[in-house]
Amino acid sequence: MQFIDLKTQFERIEEDVITRVNAVLRSQRYIMGPEVQKLEEQLADFAGTKHAFTCASGTDALVIPLMAYELAESDAVFVPSFTFFASAESITLAGGTPIFVDIDESTFNIDPVHLENEIERVLGEGKLKPRGVMPVDLFGRLADYDAIWRIADKYDLFVIEDACQGFGASLSGKRACSFGNVGATSFFPAKPLGCYGDGGAIFTDDDELASLIMSIRVHGQGVDKYDNVRIGVNGRFDAIQAAIVLAKLQVFEDELIRRAQVAQYYTEHLSDILRTPTVPEQSVSAWAQYTLVAEDAEQRTKILSGMKEKGVPSAVYYPVPIHRSTAYRNLGYEDVSLPVSEALASKVFSIPMHPYLNEKDMDKVVDAIKGSL
Ligand SMILES: *Cc1c(COP(=O)(O)O)cnc(C)c1O
Repeated sequence: MQFIDLKTQFERIEEDVITRVNAVLRSQRYIMGPEVQKLEEQLADFAGTKHAFTCASGTDALVIPLMAYELAESDAVFVPSFTFFASAESITLAGGTPIFVDIDESTFNIDPVHLENEIERVLGEGKLKPRGVMPVDLFGRLADYDAIWRIADKYDLFVIEDACQGFGASLSGKRACSFGNVGATSFFPAKPLGCYGDGGAIFTDDDELASLIMSIRVHGQGVDKYDNVRIGVNGRFDAIQAAIVLAKLQVFEDELIRRAQVAQYYTEHLSDILRTPTVPEQSVSAWAQYTLVAEDAEQRTKILSGMKEKGVPSAVYYPVPIHRSTAYRNLGYEDVSLPVSEALASKVFSIPMHPYLNEKDMDKVVDAIKGSL
């Protein structure tokens, strides 16, 4: 059994992928190319945003719009500590300072109450200027954007939605990547919508931001590529990967439904013994991960070794909250506790989740967990 089965998916879309990739190889327009433009149109259409720009990775999809905001080291961007490292790293790369916020125990997403407390703390200290907030749609579940926007408006902050795990999620039909001033997603192979390499996309309704993003994506270009008007990056996407995402987009809606069915099956069979993830009414999760919470670290160790014995793969996202990472030792978090992030890092574990899990495999996962307790 695979943790994420990309092979079954490939068998389903193989013909389409080969046809589309061959077309790129014949056209020899490898960088940007017509497939990239076509994909950007379809992505904007899917997410319901005015603009979508592909780029080289999910990390670039965060760095590029952050660069557009021209951050100084004295600018604070608030980000949950319980996420993939790149959420915070992108803030530092763009020149700003990440301020780590704790998460909500049951949603795994940024805790709006703690967010406001941290903004007030930073304002009170007077060293940094609050500029923005980066909520993360962790494991495919949307963050609480109503509450986040109330705070962002109050303190005049920009909102960058890190939807690297959230593409495909929605709330009352409004889709992930459309909840911030900017949305970012990743096409890393293991994400809900992946390619066969690295890639990402940036979404916005804001025309001014859109033109900055286009410029920064290609070395800060102005009227042409030898007119460099600002510092940018090489953040282009390539046409072969765009062709692959186009093929995957054709089956993506169906895959989202299958993911939800897998999640429902797990929840039905596991919620009596472990804390299972929830999705609010009117909301659809992209189910990038199905993440359970053990009673404590000891019980998690027991479950994970039981699963391993039965040949069932598992993963821990994330064993170290970012404010405890070696890279951010200089930010002064040694004596600061983010209790929910720290507790969950020692208790969470994720089980196989992809659209092609059959009932036999799901039963095997459930039995392995139950047998270990
Ligand atoms: C994967 C991921 C990223 C980075 O995406 P890459 O394509 O790997 O650069 C950023 N944030 C979150 C939450 C992610 O899961």
